[in-house]
Amino acid sequence: MSKPAVALVVVSHDHPLSPPPAIEAAATFVVALPEGALTPESARQSLSASGITASDCRTDVHLHLHTTDATEAVVGYALALGFLRRVPERVIVGTQSLPVASMNRTLRTTFAPLPISAGPVVGIGLPAAADRVTLDVSQPWDHDQFLSVRNAAEVRWCPPVDPATALTQLVVLSATRAAPPKERLPIVDTGTGDAVWLDAVRKQCSQWRSVSGQEDRSTLVRRVDPSPRALRLQQAADTPVAAALHRLGVTDLECPRRSRHNRPADPFTLADNRGECSVCDPYPIDTLRLVMDTTGMVADDAADWILGDQTTPLASVC
Ligand SMILES: [Zn+2]
Repeated sequence: MSKPAVALVVVSHDHPLSPPPAIEAAATFVVALPEGALTPESARQSLSASGITASDCRTDVHLHLHTTDATEAVVGYALALGFLRRVPERVIVGTQSLPVASMNRTLRTTFAPLPISAGPVVGIGLPAAADRVTLDVSQPWDHDQFLSVRNAAEVRWCPPVDPATALTQLVVLSATRAAPPKERLPIVDTGTGDAVWLDAVRKQCSQWRSVSGQEDRSTLVRRVDPSPRALRLQQAADTPVAAALHRLGVTDLECPRRSRHNRPADPFTLADNRGECSVCDPYPIDTLRLVMDTTGMVADDAADWILGDQTTPLASVC
């Protein structure tokens, strides 16, 4: 039995928002790309507007790229790569269905284990220029050409106009340049002055994943009125630490647990009604915690002692 799949559908700004009926998935999220030049920020905003969260990605995710624009298709792929933090199992682009995860695995066994040396900038599908090595994609590359792509400081790439061909090239380029944990995606350069840093798209969408579930959590938490017991413990915790120290038989600058010290301690510090001993406490503690730790009393007994008769000496409770 196949696992239920989530469909992440990236649609062009001029494409109808409703996904085509062919998509069968347990859940469908639509990422509508904005009009105009794509940027890492606009890609991330489109992703966040889709409502997808990290918990939706714990199953197979199929990526649908509904666009006739190659740049939009590869930005959609980089966006998914970042948010999923893995290569999607399958990408449907136009009429083609590409098993990109298995393509990526096969390609990576050849290049990913190789070390990377600092090479020059490589331009792919772009006119020759003095400041870079230019590679043609109309001919199959030899091993040395793949290595020059892997080692390039930067790859500037003009994707072919067909989105499916562009995506196939991108899968090859990213697998060739893969150096986990980095992806090292190319820069889309169509020669018109608009360049899209696909790695920046990936990174922004990966960062969005980290915060995407947090809003959900805050709306699921119900406000609970504290119980009388919780209020009493809080009241004990909020009483002055200095007063409790005196009742425990020490001055402001001494730790009441000196008998346990196995090394010299700095003076006991008091700030914001919290006390801290450099030996006993990993962080500043409140009055209730200090009394519990010093006397060994449970929280309710410690609260009774703190809030009870202020003249009760420590000896009477130990
Ligand atoms: Zn101490």
